[in-house]
Amino acid sequence: MITLQGKSVFGGIAIGKISIYKRQQNIIKRYHVDNIDAEIERFEAAKQKALEELKDLFDKAVLEVGEANAMIFDIHQMMLNDLDYCESITNMISTENVNAEYAVGKTSDNFSQMFASMDDAYMKARAVDVKDISERVLGLLTNNAEQKIVSDGPVIIVADDLAPSETVQLDKSKVLGFVTEHGSSNSHTAILARTMNIPAVIGVKDVALQKYDGVEAIIDGFTGTIYMNPDKVILSIMKQKQKDDLAKRALLDELKGQKNITLDGQTIDIYANIGNFSDVGAVLKNDAGGIGLFRSEFLYLESEDYPTEEEQFSVYKMVAQNMAGKKVVIRTLDIGADKKIDYFNLPHEENPALGYRAIRICLEETDVFKTQLRALYRASAFGNIAIMFPMIISVSEIKRIKEILEEVKTELRSNMIPFREDLEIGIMIETPAAVMISDLLAKEVDFFSVGTNDLTQYTLAIDRQNQKLERFYDPHHLGLLRMIKIAADNAHKNKAWIGICGELGADMELTETFLAMGIDEISVSPSFVLPLRKKVRAIDVSKIKEEVLSTL
Ligand code: PEP
Ligand code: MG
Repeated sequence: MITLQGKSVFGGIAIGKISIYKRQQNIIKRYHVDNIDAEIERFEAAKQKALEELKDLFDKAVLEVGEANAMIFDIHQMMLNDLDYCESITNMISTENVNAEYAVGKTSDNFSQMFASMDDAYMKARAVDVKDISERVLGLLTNNAEQKIVSDGPVIIVADDLAPSETVQLDKSKVLGFVTEHGSSNSHTAILARTMNIPAVIGVKDVALQKYDGVEAIIDGFTGTIYMNPDKVILSIMKQKQKDDLAKRALLDELKGQKNITLDGQTIDIYANIGNFSDVGAVLKNDAGGIGLFRSEFLYLESEDYPTEEEQFSVYKMVAQNMAGKKVVIRTLDIGADKKIDYFNLPHEENPALGYRAIRICLEETDVFKTQLRALYRASAFGNIAIMFPMIISVSEIKRIKEILEEVKTELRSNMIPFREDLEIGIMIETPAAVMISDLLAKEVDFFSVGTNDLTQYTLAIDRQNQKLERFYDPHHLGLLRMIKIAADNAHKNKAWIGICGELGADMELTETFLAMGIDEISVSPSFVLPLRKKVRAIDVSKIKEEVLSTL
């Protein structure tokens, strides 16, 4: 048995024979052409045909992986229509009197090298997309049919890399999983694999993966391990792991693509909480409608020093782009209390939970705050970002935040940097003060998100970190539920929407209560999205509403 290690992009176990993915190589020859117009026309015809194919692929992908993930084929169409790309090809044909295949191949190399050399991880990953669209045009110019998997039974595909279009075209009935030598977890290939529920491991550094053609293998997509010629012990362990996983998934998979709708037709958004870009895969895999809380302080906590504007921008942008138009609520830096960061040099406090934390730090350290806001606004041009502020206790804080936001926006405008003008602004409701003035706060913002973890500790005066107090910590306390109801009513009276992003959102004993209150969105850990959807779909709000509300 040989064990190989790579990076897992989707959990799940695949057991079967390896099949090496042999790509049809478009061998490009350069030759002289006299009739430049005819050659350009040949390129244009191939391009039009490629655009039609990409449109068909988009339609196929929508059915397979949903619209958000299918967007890559929309982007491919845009890339193929890109003026710089097309002009590079037609200029090369006309100035060098060369054939269209050569011009496409050369442009593909130039553009993909340019992307590959960029610092931004997202742009880097676009190198493979340029290659993908160019290969498509080349295939049409040279009349090379697309690669299809030829095998009798389902197999584990091994490839050097897979392009997004190759991934989506994999016949799921014939593919147990795939292993690639290259690729990044940020690539659309990885994202598609996750969404298509295909166990996949990338970045397997074995110089000669080809030699395993036809060999029996196991992919453990949970750990990123591949077992070639597995022994009996591993085989039986993996078979059991596969059985458990399939049983668990079968139950929940049926809910993917379904609405979060109650029996009597009330809908609610179910979003997911994340701490970093690497969590986005789990968000998509679990079919969350958006990200309701991105705890941006994790970027700071994982860093040795203040993360720069560029570093933050690149993460926010990747999250926004990968969520493809779905809402991404990013909370500004929420440190202090239990989240300590050395380089902030914060003074020792007797009572840190009631101390210098979150928005209080940001409103003092405006340079740090503005760096983050600039990164957020810049990233807003790439998706549906909303910004949320933590630990708010007064209207004057929001007014001051808005002044700072205006300064940031004016700066960006004067530097001609695009951002989303209609970006939503919201606040966390996690202090009793915020609840009690929620009528005033709601007039200032687009949305509230209830941070039940802190709201519980501040309402009950129970330190959420103190184990000794667990016996007194009652998250179903009437005082807390009434607070949420007050905030919800005030939000709705003022045309703001309200979500819950604390842990209580996943407490299914309270789902009826939240629906009865008319909560618009609940954001939970990715793995809770489908169980919560299941719960919502079994509730008839009209039957329980009156009774539930009468208990509050
Ligand atoms: C909360 O307080 O409920 C919350 C979501 O924020 P955090 O847990 O990060 O404090
Ligand atoms: Mg909190």
